[in-house]
Amino acid sequence: MKKRKIAILGSTGSIGISTLKVLEKNKSNFSIELLTAHSNYKKLIQQAKIFKPKNILIKNKKFYKRVEKSLKNSKTKVFSGDIPVSQIISGKLDYTMSAIVGIAGLQPTVDAIKISKNVAIANKESIICGWEILSQAIKRHKTKILPVDSEHFSIMELTKDVKDDEVEEIIITASGGPFLNLPLNKLSHVKPIQAINHPNWKMGKKISIDSANLMNKVFEVVEACKIFQFNKKKYRIMIHPQSYVHSIIRFKNGLIKMILYNTDMKIPISNTLYGQKNHVLNVKKIDAEILNKLSFKNVNLKRFPSAGLISKCLNLGVSAPTIVNASNEVLVGLFLRKKIGFLNIVKTINKILKDKDFKKYARRKPKSIKDIQITDNWARLKTMSMCVR
Ligand code: NAD
Ligand code: MG
Repeated sequence: MKKRKIAILGSTGSIGISTLKVLEKNKSNFSIELLTAHSNYKKLIQQAKIFKPKNILIKNKKFYKRVEKSLKNSKTKVFSGDIPVSQIISGKLDYTMSAIVGIAGLQPTVDAIKISKNVAIANKESIICGWEILSQAIKRHKTKILPVDSEHFSIMELTKDVKDDEVEEIIITASGGPFLNLPLNKLSHVKPIQAINHPNWKMGKKISIDSANLMNKVFEVVEACKIFQFNKKKYRIMIHPQSYVHSIIRFKNGLIKMILYNTDMKIPISNTLYGQKNHVLNVKKIDAEILNKLSFKNVNLKRFPSAGLISKCLNLGVSAPTIVNASNEVLVGLFLRKKIGFLNIVKTINKILKDKDFKKYARRKPKSIKDIQITDNWARLKTMSMCVR
């Protein structure tokens, strides 16, 4: 059998590591053409030694020499900086995992779409801000896009061949994160270390903070509106602390469909990798008794004021999500460095939406990644100016 050619963008992160774990079981079926990382050179070297990829890219040039030196006796070629994947790889890839965090993932994802048959996208920020660009590349290069975010993977599975007029409502569930039951008056004092400590999922820092204040769900509704053809008014979020059900589709014919699976990203990852073909994934079995313990409740806006941003993102202009995303990336960084409080993240985003220049930028229709960067830059600078005095 011909080996499937694979690339992982952001291989040293949480999703990247899970993807390698999925591949590990069937190493002989795959040829790893490329692994990339930003600065975690130690992990990248370790992965290169175990998985023997043909190429690796360490984005931060500061670490190039160290990586090159420790792999000088291997066949792996080392690259550094902003090199498009098409300049590293010849021919078509069978599968690329896009797992860089933040808008930084957009350009590498577009580059990968050009040379991959299938692109699995975990990097939600590139979908939210760059869908207009991504979708053009997808059509032009006839690439198949596979959503990996668990809610979107579930919607994809539940709505194959389903038309908009058959659907009443699409519910995206939220675990509620570490502060679901914290007294409201304590929220302003929470520390980064508490916010990162998600009760159900082990994820990168940025998405963990986004989960703690529900910004992650704001992004996920926008992400779903971009990927799927359903009317955007049909989406709703609901708290489901156990996180076994990821999305629920309520059909007009009275049926409700949902998929249950463990809080293990290896499940959506391996299903996008192997498709419908049978494969055995060694995950913890869900005890049927768990069904007695599933609970669902509406979102309390006092606890999660971010939920109010969903309709704003969807209705205030095609670039509104780019602005909210850029501002949020800056604010999460500031919160992680203890420069601002937890509640200031959403408060500051709301201030940006009231800025005199917001409408002008929010209504810009991006024709290129450069256009997106202009809006992104404006939001970053505005956010910094509001926080750092
Ligand atoms: P992470 O922080 O653990 O890993 C990020 C990876 O991207 C690392 O390999 C890092 O080296 C690389 N990277 C960071 N900045 C880069 C840059 N400027 N250029 C190139 N590479 C860069 O993040 P994660 O939790 O794995 O999340 C990755 C993406 O997947 C995010 O968009 C997140 O929202 C999404 N996602 C994650 C999960 C999860 O369970 N972790 C679930 C759903 C969606
Ligand atoms: Mg998700």
